[in-house]
Amino acid sequence: MSIYSLVYSSRAQLKPDRSTDLAMIDEILANARQRNAKVNVTGALLFTEGRFVQALEGDRNEVRATYDRIEADPRHSNVEILSSQFSERRRFKLWSMAFVGDNEALRSRFDDSPLAQLGRKPAGDALLDFMLELARCTDDTAQIH
Ligand code: FAD
Repeated sequence: MSIYSLVYSSRAQLKPDRSTDLAMIDEILANARQRNAKVNVTGALLFTEGRFVQALEGDRNEVRATYDRIEADPRHSNVEILSSQFSERRRFKLWSMAFVGDNEALRSRFDDSPLAQLGRKPAGDALLDFMLELARCTDDTAQIH
């Protein structure tokens, strides 16, 4: 079965003092994990320097319905699709939504990565594979199994 994957980036809404609203990210994740598990959507959410990058994968209609809700969410802006494609395999099968947060160790790995090329539309597979590598390195994974 073909798996549909979509990756987008966006800017997180900041608190009035311009700091990152970590409670907001916790709330987004808790709800996303519950909803995604019901429709067999899996993926990873990265947060770095005020920017989200999220990969969603699963049945095309479920992924697009999820993305349509996400795109309209006022908790972020500048939502832009970076890649959308069909693959033969599900990459994030262990995670209803893995989370990779903003920390030095991960940030240092971004420099030569497809994420560093965000403005230049990286190839879908390279970006998805890099996000999978990051998801595997993080503790906060909320694994399905
Ligand atoms: P309802 O829960 O009925 O909410 C109605 C409206 O209010 C929606 O527009 C909603 O976006 C907005 N809203 C909800 N809570 C808040 C809040 N605390 N503050 C401000 N506005 C709010 N959802 C998923 O199902 N799967 C995901 O993987 C996923 N990832 C997300 C990643 C990011 C970066 C963001 C910002 C949101 C994500 N969401 C995800 C949440 C998604 O945007 C919807 O809020 C959620 O799916 C519920 O949709 P709903 O139409 O049932 O809205």
